[in-house]
Amino acid sequence: MKQDIDAVALASRLIQYDTVNPPGNELACARYLADILQQAGFDVRLVPLGKERASLVATKGRAGPRGPLVFTGHIDVVPLGAQAWTHAPFAGEVVQGRLYGRGASDMKGGVAAMVAAAVAQADSLGEGKQLTLLITAAEETGCQGAEAIIAAGMQGTAGALIVGEPTANVPYLGHKGALWLRGTARGVTAHGSMPQKGDNAVYKAARATTRLSCFCFHAPAHPELGSPTLNVGTFHGGLNINSVPDRAIIEIDVRTVPGMDHAQVRQQIADHMQEQMELETTIDLPSVWTSPQSPWVQRAAAIASRITGEAFAVRTASYFSDAALLAGALGGAPTLILGPGEPSQAHQTDEWCAVDKIEQCAAIYQALIADWETVQA
Ligand SMILES: [Zn+2]
Repeated sequence: MKQDIDAVALASRLIQYDTVNPPGNELACARYLADILQQAGFDVRLVPLGKERASLVATKGRAGPRGPLVFTGHIDVVPLGAQAWTHAPFAGEVVQGRLYGRGASDMKGGVAAMVAAAVAQADSLGEGKQLTLLITAAEETGCQGAEAIIAAGMQGTAGALIVGEPTANVPYLGHKGALWLRGTARGVTAHGSMPQKGDNAVYKAARATTRLSCFCFHAPAHPELGSPTLNVGTFHGGLNINSVPDRAIIEIDVRTVPGMDHAQVRQQIADHMQEQMELETTIDLPSVWTSPQSPWVQRAAAIASRITGEAFAVRTASYFSDAALLAGALGGAPTLILGPGEPSQAHQTDEWCAVDKIEQCAAIYQALIADWETVQA
């Protein structure tokens, strides 16, 4: 028996699962959502990701020629940070119209809205109209949950993709890609009083870092996403003051725009450092971009505008999302990022999401699902 779901109550319930990543422990939360979706007639499969971790693929109906409508959201959250919280981070309490808790905005509010909308529209799904939910673990550490879904070949296809990351219910058209590199310089250790007998790895890493401070991308800026960027985020070297360090490690955060080839960028960076550095790619996520001219984007943006009262404008996200991997794996389907969370609340102490935004988002998602049959026609 299908039972309608209150999106805010569901978001609050999801916050009560501690899915701080690492370690994640998303399995219990994924199972809870699997039950709800199964009861609404969805075919649900868990995609395991190590101990107590899983993503979820839920689908109902049989797609027409345009393919299924796909929603995605992640259920892992970032750590609480060093600062004390005023609101209990895993209580999911509502105070003065705000739902508080880790993940309220990023993005259990969004996941709750999509599950509530999917359940509410479940009866409309069938021959010629398919809805898929890809609810992932391990997004915050670099989309490993989405990667596992794709590795298992379980993502299926898509006519369009909606990512419920925090946008305050305003459609975003994409985000930069992320290429994270770890560079290791090696040397020879010696007593600190006899540096001439060693080979100092910190000096090598320092020279490489200084050169990277004036690295220039050859790629032109994207008209909406802007220019690619590079930042050396960490520098670690040496164990004790009176030894010559034989190892130093830097971590490089590169943000790319459409049209850039990550393998080429990596090679340019390696050449530019002019040092013997072992380079390892730790995260490799392409950029996401859908033209505002895409017919479905225009339709979806009009639906969102009708419900929020806000005129559509071209906007992009500063964060990356699972769409980096999913959009390509789903055949380059037009992609919108649209969710109830406040972008400024992501990863904050006392994170909150406005209750009326969650309700409004569930209404937008429902309208997008309802519209999908018209798109098919
Ligand atoms: Zn997120």
